[in-house]
Amino acid sequence: MGRTSKDKRDIFYRLAKEQGWRARSAFKLLQADETFQLLEGLTRAVDLCAAPGSWSQVLAKRMYEPLTPEDREKVKIIAVDLQGMAPIEGVKQLRADISKESTAEAIIEFFGGEKAQIVVSDGAPDSTGMHDFDSYVQGELLLSALSISTFILEEGGSFVSKIYRADRTSRLYTQLKRFFKDVCVFKPSASRNSSIEAFVVARKFCLPDGFKPCNLTTEWHDHPESWVGRKKESPSVVQVPFVAYKGELDSDRTYDLGENYVYKEPVQQPLTAAYQDILQKTSQVNIKYEGIRVIHDEEILKDWLA
Ligand code: SAM
Repeated sequence: MGRTSKDKRDIFYRLAKEQGWRARSAFKLLQADETFQLLEGLTRAVDLCAAPGSWSQVLAKRMYEPLTPEDREKVKIIAVDLQGMAPIEGVKQLRADISKESTAEAIIEFFGGEKAQIVVSDGAPDSTGMHDFDSYVQGELLLSALSISTFILEEGGSFVSKIYRADRTSRLYTQLKRFFKDVCVFKPSASRNSSIEAFVVARKFCLPDGFKPCNLTTEWHDHPESWVGRKKESPSVVQVPFVAYKGELDSDRTYDLGENYVYKEPVQQPLTAAYQDILQKTSQVNIKYEGIRVIHDEEILKDWLA
């Protein structure tokens, strides 16, 4: 695929580069914010699974950049990911696994006794192509994000997370409804129709009486009986309202680039992309054997990868 064909095929990919966003995902959060006014006037936010950082850019753009230097001091935005990402002014970075309790502790420490007003999470596992497995792991990431929220989100706060609409989704809605008075599923136009991806937008956070913040993934595995609305007891599927973003641009359409089109490079290459390791290994292979003109690189690679 040529460099420009992706620009043609994916309008949000192209716009992201033109507007300075690190990933096209930025538009998903921007569209959620436009629809639900989530970020207006906020000063404390958590961005989980944040790399390469386009959602953090949106948070900084809306919560940090418009303020005076004095007011900026009061803004606390933390971005967490397994992978490293290039710095963003106004955003503190934490390289960590969101399913670990130590990560929740580090976030709590960052807020120094205060609580966050919003937790956003765009968490997705590396896709294996096995849809059931991928959805399951994605659901675990959502539960990890929700677990962190039980510790750190203030009463009345909001939660936005990617969700894969699949078999288990109804159970995830049930969990969300335990903690939020208002839960809906949002489909931005920046998310392809063909994709099972959508976003839950949960507002008006409220810890149930007597509930102690905990790791909900463990609660589910160790004590499934604690899940209100599990299939055995509740045959009716839990449903939440569905809201679609209506915009002019369509992520499933191919656009003509026009005569004056100028190709732009992506804003920020990943710092620690999974493919970097393999690239490094292949370049080492070439350097190592260049002198003796070994050309069976495939064989050499297999050895390296074994
Ligand atoms: N919202 C990001 C943006 O706009 O730039 C894109 C996020 S990308 C779709 C999903 C991210 O989830 C990846 O960067 C991946 O490293 C991260 N991730 C997956 N599992 C994770 C985990 N257990 N802890 C922290 N990050 C995780």
